[in-house]
Amino acid sequence: MQFTTKLAPDLIAATATIIAQNAAEITKLDQVLGDGDHIINLQRGIAAVQAQCPQYQNLQWLQIWQKIGFTLLNTMGGASGSLFGTLFISMGKPTPADQPFAEIYANAVLAVQKRGKSAAGEKTMLDTLIPVAEVLANNQTDSLPTLLDKVRLAATDGVESTRNMLASKGRASYLQEKSIGHLDAGAKTCQLIICAIVAVLTDNC
Ligand code: ADP
Ligand code: MG
Repeated sequence: MQFTTKLAPDLIAATATIIAQNAAEITKLDQVLGDGDHIINLQRGIAAVQAQCPQYQNLQWLQIWQKIGFTLLNTMGGASGSLFGTLFISMGKPTPADQPFAEIYANAVLAVQKRGKSAAGEKTMLDTLIPVAEVLANNQTDSLPTLLDKVRLAATDGVESTRNMLASKGRASYLQEKSIGHLDAGAKTCQLIICAIVAVLTDNC
């Protein structure tokens, strides 16, 4: 990981800001397809991570991701709490020192799929997370700013792809055909978080 862990507070602050700015819109989405609590769950988790952030000084990325994962798992609740928790806990698992970030992230997305018993195309957060894993895995020669821009576009196309999907996982699946025509809230929050991270990393390339 070529980015310094000194960026962790900025990354977390940018995430908190983008989620706060879009909270009303996402609550509307989750009221259509779910029970409307996704943003409350997520903001509870982000606030707990922000409170813990001073402890991240002098830690490695793996340790930071693991702490974030357990904090989200323990504070968020909801289906998304265990899925976001799984994502970061998996990213924080000890790996060979030279394992590329693309592989670390891809394995974490697979762990989310296993936990959620879900796959691409089911109108969930995975429809944002999986295309990003594909962009990272397929990268050969792109410069870092170009790669980050592709990640941003993949996340944005990913959330948009959920609009015309039929939900087959989570509360949205209860609506069956009526779920078609609306974005998935978890896919949207993942896209916003990824875009916030990309913006901070691009500024620091
Ligand atoms: P809950 O549905 O328990 O109220 P949240 O509202 O916090 O939990 O989160 C809902 C989001 O979680 C959905 O928008 C969807 O993206 C994601 N989600 C729910 N179930 C699954 C699953 N089985 N696999 C992947 N993502 C899921
Ligand atoms: Mg909900």
